[in-house]
Amino acid sequence: MKKTITTIMLTIVLLTLTAVPVFANESELIKVGLKYGSTAKNSYTLTCGDGFYVGESTGGDFAETEDLTEYDTLVVTSADGAIVLQTTDGTTIFDDLTGQVVLPESYEEGATISVDGNSYRGGLCFTENKDGTLNSINILDIEYYVYGVLNGEMGHLSPLEALKAQAVTARSFALTNLNRHSQYGFDVCCGTHCQVYKGYSDEYKETCKAVDETAGLAIYSDGKAVPGYYFKNSGGHTQDAADVWGGKVSYLQGVVDEYSPSYPWSVSFTFKELEEKLTAAKKSVGTLQKVAISERNSAGAVAELTFTGSADTVKITKESVRTFFGAGLVKSTMFSFGDAEFSDDDTGSDADAGDIFLYNGSVKTVISKKVYAIGSDGKAVQITRSGAYARNAASTVKLSEAAASTGTKPASSSSTVETATEGPLVINGFGYGHGVGMPQDSAIQMAKQGFTFDEILKYYYTGIDIR
Ligand SMILES: [Zn+2]
Repeated sequence: MKKTITTIMLTIVLLTLTAVPVFANESELIKVGLKYGSTAKNSYTLTCGDGFYVGESTGGDFAETEDLTEYDTLVVTSADGAIVLQTTDGTTIFDDLTGQVVLPESYEEGATISVDGNSYRGGLCFTENKDGTLNSINILDIEYYVYGVLNGEMGHLSPLEALKAQAVTARSFALTNLNRHSQYGFDVCCGTHCQVYKGYSDEYKETCKAVDETAGLAIYSDGKAVPGYYFKNSGGHTQDAADVWGGKVSYLQGVVDEYSPSYPWSVSFTFKELEEKLTAAKKSVGTLQKVAISERNSAGAVAELTFTGSADTVKITKESVRTFFGAGLVKSTMFSFGDAEFSDDDTGSDADAGDIFLYNGSVKTVISKKVYAIGSDGKAVQITRSGAYARNAASTVKLSEAAASTGTKPASSSSTVETATEGPLVINGFGYGHGVGMPQDSAIQMAKQGFTFDEILKYYYTGIDIR
């Protein structure tokens, strides 16, 4: 009897051991562009400590076509119109790499291959451009790909449940963007256009654990796998995809973001600088006379700016509101015009979740230890929480009453139209990024408060399944 129990226990242990490392979609390979287009090179140096072999990808695996285990360094280049493998002294040892993958001899045991000094799991393949340069492509299991994405997108020291939420979004993005760069012969690029991917050298035990614990899981909406859009900080309310990019997407609806850490920012532009930006955008208005926030969306963000000048009037809408000013300057569309930038005191980083943030006089969400109100004059003022009164464009609101309405969407507020008739135009805002989907800062905050990765995802993606 005792022996039987031991056998059963041993069987359970063995089953557990074999079950853990198996990826749910093990057969899925992804091709990641490393160098392509303007960064493509004429040749690449490959190194692998225990030798190479050349293979073909078949389904989710590789089948060997040539054993090259005697070499630890090889050069890929083009010769006579073909992509060839050469030894370091220029002898061609494999004369057509088209459709072939160069792999480390023991890739199945997790061996890595290096190209120009960077290490990757899986193998490498190459495609040729019209000008004779070669694109380098890493082909590997999607799970390994997510290993190499997480640190670049969130940072390995983030809480585990936040990393797991990010792993699911990254995997979902990959699964729904296969063939995005088919003109170069790969699926996704390794930069911010797709997702930042740095390969084996950017793997950490924390990020690999987050991938393993969510193996194969992706986001589904209305029965289909969908990409998990994300960004840094919501400023208190995420955005409807329709308000940012146009077109309604059922799972990408703006939500009140109770978990957003405060992220205030300020920037100023002279009217001359704005005239130059308008000219560069082919929207010149002559001498600029007036800038107005002419529309806000249901999240309270700026939906339309109107520039009026001596010669013309132009409008800038939706996502262009943010991108018009230049990368990273106007960090989000959650902004107001002010007559002074946030001071260091206003933008202190000692904010904690659980307190109150006001935007344009509307209570938006509970996010920071410091409390800000932006009045009708556009000026941000910091107030203390207890017994304080927030200044509002229309009235003075006792903060305790205002707090009671936390959690409701601010009304679409045409009443908060703001105008500047002379420079410098001071813009004070909160948050960073396009605002659609999951704010990474909030995912981290939720994880710190004990929420699980699926709770985090379901908070920011409306009506989704995770499977
Ligand atoms: Zn890309």
